[in-house]
Amino acid sequence: MSEPAAKPKRKRVNIRRPEVMERVQAEVERHYRSPIVEKIRQDGGELTIGNTTLRLAQQFGFCYGVERAIDLAYASRRVFPDQRIFLIGEIIHNPEVNRQLGEMNIISLPWTEISAQYDELTEDDVAIVPAFGAPTSFMDKLEERGCIIVDTTCGDVMKVWRRVRSYAKDSITSIIHGKAGHEETRATSSRAMGDSGAGHYLIILTLADTDYVCDYILHGRDKAEFLARFGNDAHSEGFDPDLHLKQVGVANQTTMLKSETEEIQRRIRTALETRDGNDASLQVFDTICGATQERQDALFEMLNKKPDILFVVGGYNSSNTTHLVEIGQEVLPTFFIRDAQCLTSLETIAHYDLASKAETQSSYPSKLLSDEPIVIGVTAGASCPANLIEATILRCFELRGVSPEQLQTA
Ligand code: SF4
Repeated sequence: MSEPAAKPKRKRVNIRRPEVMERVQAEVERHYRSPIVEKIRQDGGELTIGNTTLRLAQQFGFCYGVERAIDLAYASRRVFPDQRIFLIGEIIHNPEVNRQLGEMNIISLPWTEISAQYDELTEDDVAIVPAFGAPTSFMDKLEERGCIIVDTTCGDVMKVWRRVRSYAKDSITSIIHGKAGHEETRATSSRAMGDSGAGHYLIILTLADTDYVCDYILHGRDKAEFLARFGNDAHSEGFDPDLHLKQVGVANQTTMLKSETEEIQRRIRTALETRDGNDASLQVFDTICGATQERQDALFEMLNKKPDILFVVGGYNSSNTTHLVEIGQEVLPTFFIRDAQCLTSLETIAHYDLASKAETQSSYPSKLLSDEPIVIGVTAGASCPANLIEATILRCFELRGVSPEQLQTA
């Protein structure tokens, strides 16, 4: 019998060299830094001019994982100035950052499927893996093509992978709380199959999904309907709810809403305890990352002294930003804006509507355009650069009749 072909060795190149990183830091600062945001932060997170108060959450904007991914992408261009550089999808979910990488001629490849473009990669090409990671099939393809891989996957995402891999090793099905179509969850679910590929997973997004699964755990029901409800993207191939809900381990996309993840764990535990008389067939591991948690906690803290209106700045496809919007919407008028351009018109705010999943226009709250005192809250997701937050702050003050010059000297 012939030996299986050995996997090509991944090329390792140290791109975090001090002289490279020094230039990268300077460039990243020039593109994304905001002296105004830094000053407000230093002054306790609040700035009042006249009868307008701008309040920032204590934690917002770029997280360590995003900063690292951007640094590595910029460093790739410095280290390989003349080589073709590709990126699987987007480095993070922010259009401005992705635009900057496009200007550096870093070319985005499809991330939902391995297209023919992947077959054209050569050993001289550089391929960047984004902060969310990539499914194992994509990593195998890059290795097969022999290109230079710059892997920016966040360490917190890798922690989730270790967890679901260990579930698979013990024949435990991973129940992943996340979005089936999100880059990170696609990457995680591929690891939930384990090294042998024989593991199983089910992705659930809502409490309604959870209740449906719990009902199946308790009463069985129609298997075909179960599989159709979740769809092929949300479960492993060959997933059989009659077999694969016996031993389950819960994990989550790192950017989910913590309270929801906890509720999902609680409901699954109750269902298993009712079925088995104990919860021995359940493993749980909270994999929400520290940065997501801190931003959610900081927003809850800000809402204790509720502002009149809240702007949440970030990419519309950003999961952690979406959850900040959900938290805000529960208690006050909240607008999910991509950047300050959404506030250009004097008649309406352009903002993303979570219910219709589309950008929409709404009238400004009358207080914002009146002479009454107002407190405006601002926060931003982990993928939002400070310069976009600064532009939003400038625009908010401008709407209140305070010019950028007045603000600079305040
Ligand atoms: S949001 Fe969390 S998991 Fe995602 S890059 Fe930032 S630190 Fe990493």
